[in-house]
Amino acid sequence: MGEAKRGGRTVILYVRLLNHTPNPEKTVAMAARMCYSAVGPDLIEEELLPDRVAALIRRLRKNGHLSPFEHASFTFAVSGSRALSHQMVRHRIASYSQKSQRYIQETGFRFVTPELVQRNPAAHELFQRCMKQIEQTYNEMLALGIHREDARYVLPNACETSFLCTFNARSLHNFFRLRQCRRAQWEIRRVANLMLREAKKVAPVLFEGAGPSCIAEGVCYEGEMSCGLVKRLKKGQTGKIYRPVASGG
Ligand SMILES: Cc1cc2nc3c(=O)[nH]c(=O)nc-3n(C[C@H](O)[C@H](O)[C@H](O)COP(=O)(O)OP(=O)(O)OC[C@H]3O[C@@H](n4cnc5c(N)ncnc54)[C@H](O)[C@@H]3O)c2cc1C
Repeated sequence: MGEAKRGGRTVILYVRLLNHTPNPEKTVAMAARMCYSAVGPDLIEEELLPDRVAALIRRLRKNGHLSPFEHASFTFAVSGSRALSHQMVRHRIASYSQKSQRYIQETGFRFVTPELVQRNPAAHELFQRCMKQIEQTYNEMLALGIHREDARYVLPNACETSFLCTFNARSLHNFFRLRQCRRAQWEIRRVANLMLREAKKVAPVLFEGAGPSCIAEGVCYEGEMSCGLVKRLKKGQTGKIYRPVASGG
């Protein structure tokens, strides 16, 4: 179960692992063994005891032989803002089904308020006023006979949305590498943190070492924009510096 905080009409975010490939780690290990084994799938499966599965997966990661990871899929239910979903769908190696603003009327309009805005009373007031105005305009458009598919043009990035997404384990590793980075935007970073936490519950070895590139690969690609964590990690300063599966942004 992920994070679900709903207060009034403000939605924060929600992530839940709905489903996954049965025995995801054994499936990946079987795919790897299939490449190099003279025997058939039944015998491969019989021989694959848990220790062997874990050792094989670790070797695949170490050698960068990641195509077997594509045989294990994970389906998540996510709620958050449209700003979030827009960033999510840039990850093309995944499948999505999203709540439609054409078929669903935005009644009792729900939206995500960034924490920074919430903590600033003047900005919060401005934000709330703007959301109210948008809701009113949207409803007036509908009352004037404008179709939902056109009235929605006034809706903001803050608008709540829900979607299912299915990633294979290889694509998830890429997603975590990019979106758990402290340079990534807070909402998608938080979703990535929650997704990894969920995935680790059912496939801990498959997602061992998953995280931003500084954690996963010991490399930072941010250049001058780097947060500097990679240097501190290299000096062995871990602990409190970074908690990759924390729900905080
Ligand atoms: C911090 C951050 C800031 C960003 N800022 C911006 C921004 O300002 N503007 C913007 O437009 N985007 C931005 N993005 C989005 C980014 O450019 C990617 O679109 C997004 O992160 C998806 O990554 P991906 O292509 O690796 O994932 P996927 O689409 O899931 O692809 C996975 C991998 O498959 C391969 N692949 C997929 N499709 C192709 C293809 N057509 N050709 C060749 N190889 C392919 C690549 O190796 C790719 O890494 C940002 C992302 C991050 C993390």
